[in-house]
Amino acid sequence: MSVLIYAENADGKFKKSTFEAVSYAKAIADQNNTGLTAISIGDVSSDELAALGKYGAQKVLSVTNDKLKNFVNQAYASVIAEAAKKEAATIVVLSNSFSGRGLAPRLGVKLEAGVVDGAVVLPIQTDGKFVVKKTAFSGKAFAMVELTSAVKIIALTPNSYKVVETDGTANVEEFAVEPKASDLKEIVKEIMRSTDKVSLPDAEIVVSAGRGLKGPENWGMVEELAELLGAATACSKPVSDSGWRPHSEHVGQTGISISPNLYIAIGISGAIQHLAGVSSSKVIVVINKDADAPFFKVADYGIVGDAFEVLPKLIEAVKAY
Ligand code: FAD
Repeated sequence: MSVLIYAENADGKFKKSTFEAVSYAKAIADQNNTGLTAISIGDVSSDELAALGKYGAQKVLSVTNDKLKNFVNQAYASVIAEAAKKEAATIVVLSNSFSGRGLAPRLGVKLEAGVVDGAVVLPIQTDGKFVVKKTAFSGKAFAMVELTSAVKIIALTPNSYKVVETDGTANVEEFAVEPKASDLKEIVKEIMRSTDKVSLPDAEIVVSAGRGLKGPENWGMVEELAELLGAATACSKPVSDSGWRPHSEHVGQTGISISPNLYIAIGISGAIQHLAGVSSSKVIVVINKDADAPFFKVADYGIVGDAFEVLPKLIEAVKAY
C-alpha cells in the first residue's frame, strides 16, 4: 500500500491548503508505515515540485500534458486514478477545495473507493477500523465515518490541519499520461480576474460584510480593514446578487465554504445559509446594530453597534496597534 496526495497548484504555485494536505497525507503514511507520493498536474517549476519533499512527499509525479492545462474534473480525476493505480495507493488525499470537491467523488467511482469529504482530523485507525471525522450538515455538526473499501479517498478541509515541515526531499518524475478525448472539454472563453489580494479560500483572516453596509460605495472601510489585517474580503449572498461585490466573494451554502482562523462579519444577519459556509471558522467576531441578530449566537466576540461608527474606530485601533 501507499498514500497518494493530489498537490493542487494555482498558476504554477502550490497553495497553503496543498501543503496542509501534504502534511496530513504524510501523517497518514506514517500511521501506516508507508511512503507518500504526490501528483501534480500542470506547469509547475522543478524547484516548486521538489519543495513538496519538505512537507513529506518522497516522490512527486509531474504531469505536464498541454491538454491538461485547464482544470477539467473528469480528465484530472482519470489522471489521478491512473497515478493511484501505478503507486498501488490505498489512500488518496486531496484538499477539500473547489476542485477537490469535484474530484473526490469521481475518484471514488474510478477507484471503487469510499469517499470522505470535509475531513478535519487524522483518521482513527484502531481494531482494523478506519474512521474519519468530518463536518456534517453544512458545518453544524461532525460525523464519524467508517471507510470499509480497499481504497479510501479523503478530502481535507483547508485550515484544519497544520503545515508540518520535515527535512525530507522528493524525487520528481515525469508521469506521461494521454487524457481521453471524451474526458476533455473545449474551453470557449476563459475570463481571469487578476488581483493581488489574499485568496479567499486560503485566507487565515476574512473580513466579510452584508446588506447592513447599505451599498457598494461603503466597502472602502471593509477593504481598508482587510488590507490592514492581511485579510481576504467576503460578503453575503444578497450583496453579490445585487452586484455590490463579485460572486467570487459570496460565502455560504451556495457560495464558498471557508474556515479561517478569524472571521469578522459586519452587518450580516447570520442566516442559516450564510453560517453554513463560515461556522467552522476558528474565531468569529460579529458587528451588528441589532442585538438579536442570529449571528451573535455563534459569535466568539460581538459588538452591538452601527458599522458606520464601529468600523472607523476599529480601523484606527488596528492602525495604532
Ligand atoms: P440581511 O438579512 O438584510 O441582514 C442585514 C444585517 O445587517 C441585519 O442583521 C441588520 O441588523 C444589520 N445591519 C443593518 N444596518 C446595520 C448597520 N448600520 N450596522 C451594523 N449592522 C447593520 N446567504 C448567504 O450569505 N450565503 C449563501 O450561500 C446563501 N445561500 C442561500 C441559499 C438558499 C436556498 C436561500 C433560500 C438563501 C440563501 N442565502 C444565502 C440568503 C440568506 O437566507 C440571507 O437572506 C442572507 O444571508 C442575508 O444577507 P445579509 O445578512 O447580508 O442581509
